[in-house]
Amino acid sequence: MTSALLCTTRKEVEAWAVEHDLADTVDYTSIDPRLAGVINAVVFESIRDFPKIRPLLKYLGCVRGHARRRRELVGRSRAELAASSGPLRRSSPKFRPIRFAIAWVSTNDPFLTGLCLASNAWRSVGPYWDRSLFCQDTVPVGSLTKAWEIGYHECAHLIDQVYGISRQLLPMRLAAETPKASMRTEISAYAGKNRLEFVAECWAEFKTRAFPRRYARTVADFILAHAERPADASDRYSTTTDVPIATVTPSQMVPQPA
Ligand SMILES: [Zn+2]
Repeated sequence: MTSALLCTTRKEVEAWAVEHDLADTVDYTSIDPRLAGVINAVVFESIRDFPKIRPLLKYLGCVRGHARRRRELVGRSRAELAASSGPLRRSSPKFRPIRFAIAWVSTNDPFLTGLCLASNAWRSVGPYWDRSLFCQDTVPVGSLTKAWEIGYHECAHLIDQVYGISRQLLPMRLAAETPKASMRTEISAYAGKNRLEFVAECWAEFKTRAFPRRYARTVADFILAHAERPADASDRYSTTTDVPIATVTPSQMVPQPA
C-alpha cells in the first residue's frame, strides 16, 4: 500500500482517500496535498481502529466542497440558504491554497456529517451552518506536526460521538474537576473549553507525543477500554510503554514545549 504521505497532488490525495474508503465524498480542492496526506493517514488509522466512525464520515475535505455538496443534498440554492442564515450573507474569503487550516467535524448535521478543513480566513465567517456544528476548532495547522494533532483531535470527536466518551463518568469528572490553569499546563488551554475538547485534546496528545502526559494517558486508556476495536488492534496502544509506537513519525519526535 502506498503511503498516504507520499501523495504530492490533489488528485493523488483524493484518489488515496477514495481507494481506502475514508468517506462517501472527498474534495480536497484548495487543500495543500501534504496536509491532506496527513489527514488521510490519520482518518485511515482511526477508521481501522474504530470502524464505527466510518458512517459519520460522509464528507472529507475542504469547507467549500462541503458547502457545495451540502447544497446539492439540501436541494436549495446558495441564495436561499443565505436568506436563512446570517454568516452566508457575508462575502466569502478569497481563494487561497490552504496550508494553515482550521478543522472541525460535524456529527449531527442532518445533511452531511464529516471532517472539514478551511483556511484561517474562514474563522471570521464562522460556522456557515452553525447549528449543525458539533464542534468547531480554530487551531491553526501551521505545520505538519500540528496537522497530525488536528487530525487525531477531530477523529477523537468522531470516536466520542459514537462511544459517548465525554458523557461518561471518569472523563466528565476529570474535565469538570481540573482547573483551567491546570488544563493549560497539563494538556492545553483549548482542553479547558469543554469536556468534548478535553477528550479530543487528550487523545491528540496521546497519539502524537512520544511521552503523553498524565491526563492524556488516563483519557486514552479510557477510550481504549470503552471503544470496541477489531481484535487485531488490541495492544498496539498499550500505555504501559507510554509510547504509541506505530503512530509516531520522526517529524513528530521534535521536542514539544512543556
Ligand atoms: Zn475539537
